[in-house]
Amino acid sequence: MTARRLPEPYRIKVVERIRPTTRRHREEALDRAGLNLFSLDSDDVYIDLLTDSGTGALSDRQWSGLLTGDESYAGSRSFHRLQATVSDLLGLPLTIPTHQGRAAENILFPELVARCDSSTPVFISNFHFETTKAHVEAAGARAVNTLTPHALDTATPHPWKGNFDVAALRSAIDEHGPANVAGVVATITCNTSGGQPVSVANLREVSAIARAAGIPVVLDIARFAENAWFVRQREEEFRNSTIREVVAEMMACGDVVVASAKKDGLANIGGFCAFREDGDLYRGAQQRCLLTEGFLTYGGLAGRDMEAMAIGLEEAVDLDHLTHRIGQVAHLGDRLREGGVPIQLPTGGHAVFVDAGALLPHLPHDQFPGHALACELYLEAGVRSVEIGSLLLGRDPDTGEQERAPLELLRLAVPRRAYTNDHLDHVADALLDVAARAAAIRGVAFTSEPPTLRNFTGRFRWV
Ligand SMILES: *Cc1c(COP(=O)(O)O)cnc(C)c1O
Repeated sequence: MTARRLPEPYRIKVVERIRPTTRRHREEALDRAGLNLFSLDSDDVYIDLLTDSGTGALSDRQWSGLLTGDESYAGSRSFHRLQATVSDLLGLPLTIPTHQGRAAENILFPELVARCDSSTPVFISNFHFETTKAHVEAAGARAVNTLTPHALDTATPHPWKGNFDVAALRSAIDEHGPANVAGVVATITCNTSGGQPVSVANLREVSAIARAAGIPVVLDIARFAENAWFVRQREEEFRNSTIREVVAEMMACGDVVVASAKKDGLANIGGFCAFREDGDLYRGAQQRCLLTEGFLTYGGLAGRDMEAMAIGLEEAVDLDHLTHRIGQVAHLGDRLREGGVPIQLPTGGHAVFVDAGALLPHLPHDQFPGHALACELYLEAGVRSVEIGSLLLGRDPDTGEQERAPLELLRLAVPRRAYTNDHLDHVADALLDVAARAAAIRGVAFTSEPPTLRNFTGRFRWV
């Protein structure tokens, strides 16, 4: 008997019309967009797997929270509800709300750098998310990644492709000197390696090393609930634990939290920092919040957004929600793998990462195989996805050479509670058809290349 897949643990109360388009329509739209999927109008997209960030569906409880949210400038009841939820769930009693995750980074990282008192500060992470790296650098520090090498071997499954390489972490601390390490940043799950989980055993080891060296541990918890699900599934010690118990164990490994609530927070907008104690780090971040986000009890959000975020955080740790959600991603991955499309194995929490470099070996890295595949998939079926590879990486700032990413990937990110498995089957069917003519797919080249964040606004042509 095969295990039965858990169907959607909800029924659908409101629907939003989406329209399939003709190939002709898509060719014209992509042409207008200069072969850049970020420049497409969303009405020209049928199934949008560009990102899982802020694109999920709210629950009926969250929609009712939008009505009861308290819009008071100071002392909002919705802030107190959010802080109480974060405290209860994560065990960190103090919250500063922010309008999204990068704003939490913006108020925290300069304070960590100031406390490190080094002329060459660094942060060491399993892998810095793009905005995290950008804020580390904006704060005058450097970002060092020490991800497990298992993550680079896409074809071989490994349960913890988000883990720190502990030996690499130790030698990075030695190399830079503990006094120059402004923080160790654990990204859970690890977005960049494919939403891959970090084990609690790894977090505990990393945390012990950092704390022994007097280095604060920052948890970047955009996808903390998905990580907890994997831990419960794969780590013997937690087989009989609840998701909430696993979350508490993970959080015990950190000193301070930055969060985007647009992922596991099940909100369309929002983020926060959370602190263990009322010390000068918390006070410093509060000052920065006042400067750039707003008063301490709304932090750049409407009261209703904090209400939706608090309810979303509670719903995020529901076991059925997580089993279904991560099962959906696995289903899409299984369909592709069975059809012979190379993907990062096993699939992670929020997305399927297709190994475009392996699928299109005839394309060199500077013809951006992941982006070429994304364009072909859009033309085939109106599905929007995104390249995670050399295009995203950019040029070497010193030499101006196009850098070569370790992997040329196409990311199919699945929004939470928004699409059914029928939608994902449609995506899989289309991608299998594209893969069947892989050898004929051409590369792409810039016709207009902006100096920074060129993946967002660049224009391209077929080679
Ligand atoms: C999305 C994300 C962020 C940034 O959050 P935004 O809400 O997009 O500003 C930071 N870290 C990780 C791991 C993320 O996935």
